[in-house]
Amino acid sequence: MTDRYASFARSGAGRFLVKRLGLPDPPRLRRYEQGDEFGPVALGGAGRLAEPSRHILDKLPVAGRGAEERTAALVFDASGITGSAGLSALYEFFHPVIRSLRPCGRVIVLGSPPELCTSAREATAQRALEGFVRSVGKEVGRGSTAQLVYVAPGAEEATESTLRFLLSGRSAYVSGQVIRIGPATVDVPDDWDQPLVGKTAIVTGAARGIGAAIAAVLTREGAHVVCLDVPAAGEDLSRVANELKGTALQLDLTAGDAPRRLADFIATRHVHADVFVHNAGITRDKTLGRMDEAQWSAVIDVNLESQERINDVLLAENLLGGNGRIVSVSSVAGIAGNRGQTNYATSKAGVIGLVQATAGAVAERGLTINAVAPGFIETRMTAAMPVFVREGGRRLNSMSQGGLPVDVAETIAWLAHPASGGVNGNVVRVCGQSLLGA
Ligand code: NAD
Repeated sequence: MTDRYASFARSGAGRFLVKRLGLPDPPRLRRYEQGDEFGPVALGGAGRLAEPSRHILDKLPVAGRGAEERTAALVFDASGITGSAGLSALYEFFHPVIRSLRPCGRVIVLGSPPELCTSAREATAQRALEGFVRSVGKEVGRGSTAQLVYVAPGAEEATESTLRFLLSGRSAYVSGQVIRIGPATVDVPDDWDQPLVGKTAIVTGAARGIGAAIAAVLTREGAHVVCLDVPAAGEDLSRVANELKGTALQLDLTAGDAPRRLADFIATRHVHADVFVHNAGITRDKTLGRMDEAQWSAVIDVNLESQERINDVLLAENLLGGNGRIVSVSSVAGIAGNRGQTNYATSKAGVIGLVQATAGAVAERGLTINAVAPGFIETRMTAAMPVFVREGGRRLNSMSQGGLPVDVAETIAWLAHPASGGVNGNVVRVCGQSLLGA
C-alpha cells in the first residue's frame, strides 16, 4: 500500500508545508542495490576493536574518497573506555562531525558487553553507551541510523558481516539496536554478494508478504529456497517459488504430522537445510474479554508452538547443516504489548523466549538462532488497519514511515549469513527505531 502522506511530503508543496508546520518528514531511505558501495567512513576510538575494524573497513568498496565527499558513516571503538570519565571520548569524536553526516548515514559504536567487563566501573561505562546510541538515532534524522555493537573479547574477528550489514543500505530500517557478537569460527564466503551459494533455505509463510520477500532476498544471496505455506495458499506459493526457481512445499504447520513430514522432506530432498526461517504468523485480534478460546489457541499454535515443534525435530534429527541458522520472526508487539493483541503479543514474546532459551544449546552444535522483531511494515496486514492506527504506526518512529518487507528480509539474510556465526541469541528490531517499547 502506498504511503500517500510520504509522497505528498516529498512534493514541492508538501516540502514547504512540512517545514512550515513542523510535520513528520519521511526521508527517502537508501536501500541496498547490487554493486552498492559504502561511502567514506570515519573511524575513531582506541580500544581492542579499532585495528580489526580498520582492517575490515579497508576491504569495503568505498565510493567517493575525495575530500569533498561528506562522511557516510562514523564508527567509534568505545571498547577502551573503562570508566564514566572516559565517556567524554564520545563527545570529542562525534560532536565536531555529527552534523556533517550524509543523509542515510550510519553511526556505529563498538563496545564490550557489560556482563563480561572485569570491573563495575567499566561495566557501567559500557552500559552507558546504549543511551548515547539510542539518542543519536533519534537526533540524526534524514534516514540515518545508529547502532551499538557489543563485541565479546575473542570475537574481534567475527564482526565483518555485521559491520557490512549495518553500513549498507540493507539495514535501512534498523536503528537504535544493541547487537551482541560472541566468539565464533567465521566462515568467510568467497563472494560477499552471494554468500549462500550451494545452501538450502526453508522459509515458512512464503506465499506472500514478508515471507515472499525473505525468499526473494535469500535467493538473491545464492540460496536454493524452499517456500512453505498452507495448501490454501498453493497458487500464490507456486508463483513465488517458480519466480525464484525454488521449491514449493504445501504444509499446514499446525497439522499433527507437520514436523514429521517436514523432516522427511528435508532428509530425502536436501539431506539437510542450512537456513530455517520461521516467518508464518497469524493475528486474531480482540480484547481479552471478547476473545474466544479458538482465537487464543490458533495464534499461540501457529506463531509459537509450531516453531518449538519444528526446532525440536530439526535438532533431534540433525537436519541443519554445520554452521546452520535458525531465524524466527517475532514482533515489536511481543516487546511493547498491544491493545487487542494479548494472544499475538504472548506468542511473539514467547518467540523471543524460545530464541534466548535455546541459543546456548544451539551454539554447542555450531549453529545460531536469532529473532527479528518487525515494527510497522507495509503489508496486507497493516493495510487492513484503521486509518488512525495505521498513520500512528507509520509515523511514531525515527524514520517517520513504515518499513518494507525487504527490510525484514535483509536483516534475516544478515543473520543467515555464513560469517554471522558470532551473532547468536539476538533479538533485532526492524522498526525504524519505533517509540513503542523503546
Ligand atoms: P501475511 O499474513 O501476509 O503472511 C503470513 C503467511 O503465513 C501467509 O502466507 C499464511 O498463509 C502463512 N501461514 C499462516 N498460517 C500458517 C500455517 N499454519 N502453516 C503454514 N503457513 C501459514 O503476514 P506478514 O505481514 O507477511 O507477516 C509475516 C510475519 O511477520 C508474521 O509472523 C507476522 O506476525 C510478522 N510481523 C509482521 C508485521 C507487519 O507489519 N506486517 C509486523 C511484525 C511482525
